[in-house]
Amino acid sequence: MYSEDIELAKNARLKAYSPYSNYQVGAVLRTKSGKAYIGCNIENHGIQGICAERTAFAKALSEGEREFESITVVGGKKGEEARDKCMPCGYCRQFMSEFVNDNFKVYVVDRDNNVSEFTMGDLLPYGFKI
Ligand code: ZN
Repeated sequence: MYSEDIELAKNARLKAYSPYSNYQVGAVLRTKSGKAYIGCNIENHGIQGICAERTAFAKALSEGEREFESITVVGGKKGEEARDKCMPCGYCRQFMSEFVNDNFKVYVVDRDNNVSEFTMGDLLPYGFKI
């Protein structure tokens, strides 16, 4: 894990557009070459909001990136410190699994900068595959 990813994720979190849930999430996606793509959650009136993790992936994928190392996630209520474990939702787990293998690392950071480490295999052991 890159040491600056905690701060990058926290800064990304502050960019969240979440007027309905008031829940802010930031994510930093690292490519295998070390490049960082940040993402935040973006809501709207409908149900088509996007999570921070998928925002980061969409930015990287649309730039042609295909090899990913890790994602770092931090989240919590607006105006509050990060919660204990802001885990990727089921949709994001399935989405990410399309582009990474079971060894892809998922780091979840809490308010005290404690890092919980998971692998894609931990989070989605029996993901849907065609
Ligand atoms: Zn999600």
